Amino acid sequence: MLDLVIKGATVIDGSGSAGAVRDVGVQGDRIAEVSPDIDADARETLDATGLVLSPGFIDVHSHDDFHVLIEPEVRHNILQGITTVIVGNCGFGAAASGPGKLQMKAINEPSADLPDWDGYAGYLEEVAKTAPALNVAVLIGHHTARRQAMGGVENRPPSETEMASMLTSVEEGMEAGAVGLSTGLVYEPGRYASTEEVADLAKVVGKYGGLYVSHMRDEGAGLLDSVRETLHIGEVSGCGVEISHHKTVGSDNWGQVTHSLAMIEEAVAKGHDATADQYPYTARSTMLFALVQNGTFGAGDGGAMGRSEPSEVLLCSVPGRAEYEGRTLQSFVEEYDLPGEKAANRLLRDVSPDILVAAFGMDEGDVRMVMAHSSTMIGTDGLDRGSKPHPRAWGTYPRVLGKYVREEGVISLENAIYKMTGMPAGKFGIAGRGLVKEGFFADLALFDPETVIDGASYEDPRVGPTGIPHVIVNGQFAVRDGEHEGSRSGRALRRAEA
Ligand SMILES: [Zn+2]
Repeated sequence: MLDLVIKGATVIDGSGSAGAVRDVGVQGDRIAEVSPDIDADARETLDATGLVLSPGFIDVHSHDDFHVLIEPEVRHNILQGITTVIVGNCGFGAAASGPGKLQMKAINEPSADLPDWDGYAGYLEEVAKTAPALNVAVLIGHHTARRQAMGGVENRPPSETEMASMLTSVEEGMEAGAVGLSTGLVYEPGRYASTEEVADLAKVVGKYGGLYVSHMRDEGAGLLDSVRETLHIGEVSGCGVEISHHKTVGSDNWGQVTHSLAMIEEAVAKGHDATADQYPYTARSTMLFALVQNGTFGAGDGGAMGRSEPSEVLLCSVPGRAEYEGRTLQSFVEEYDLPGEKAANRLLRDVSPDILVAAFGMDEGDVRMVMAHSSTMIGTDGLDRGSKPHPRAWGTYPRVLGKYVREEGVISLENAIYKMTGMPAGKFGIAGRGLVKEGFFADLALFDPETVIDGASYEDPRVGPTGIPHVIVNGQFAVRDGEHEGSRSGRALRRAEA
């Protein structure tokens, strides 16, 4: 007897193929049958007529390394249909635990009762023990490895011993089942690393068939040089490359993605594995400190993070001063009677060094162009921190499905689902997931293509979507009739685990 039969949904299987009305049978944690009509007995039958059934979404750009342990229901992910997250992006890795917690503090406050763990093996064990609501795969963070090896945020090359220690960290991570190495070359301490340092670490990853995933050195005027560096590291290390949150920032640089996309195409034509991910918004979310450090509010072109005017910068999370959250930097320019950079510095000094912001400065045309490109998959880059987090933490997937597929026709529904499921599973080596296929794990999302839409806005960001009634993780309902079931059937995923 089957555990569950879902009847009458249009199955869009995640491969990019057209949808077809099918019944889907689930037995235990697996998809047992996909066929035009299942009449076998089942413990439960769900009539899903009018809904689309797709694989659960795989968020390749997550920062929920601690969130999955601290709040294992991960509501902001689950409610939008995400069933697997890949954490450890932008160089921020959760292990080794001490330096990892320090490094992550800038974006993701660890709670006091987080246990210690030993390396990535220990982190993945902790995830397995906690059993969050969704599956978790991990990237090794370059910042974390560097910080651990060098004892802090050092603006210098590593010594031979320090480099050896970093290589050992990366090796440990890959042995433990990490899916690759991430960098954040605009942040501390990644910004102090040479191309060669990163390439040498990536070579270890390449040996294991892992990926090199990069928040690049410059997404402003230097975008194309950064793409060149990233592709070069992929080439010499033997790693497939994933460009994180592909975009350009600062209005002077808008349109540059035409060229960065062409560079990716050229690499692919030469036989390299080069792809990117994207969140569907024109504001990024980052640390106020990093914007200042990179010259965003300075006199020049805005530097590696591009220009944003103080009026375009919203405070998302302000440790200790929640009442500042939702205010613009411009409001502090006025209150302090200081120019943008000085006002930001005063906030960082007097209020908190760990302020997170949402900063506009991207072009909607670029967002659409990147989304439509064959190299792009979807990721949230979400940080559900503070009272006014960037809405992408709660809204990314339904926003793509509602705004960009249904309302604007930027991409087809089948292509969108592929970019959310089959494509990331293939790229990141997530075995047995990302397709609705017999024998695959039953990670499933059911949504109404006519109504699905994000509910999260900059003003009111912690709001789930409408039109995603059911989400299933490893055969268990995580969301039923739009409500989080509280079930926690997620697993720790290790590379090449079938
Ligand atoms: Zn990033």
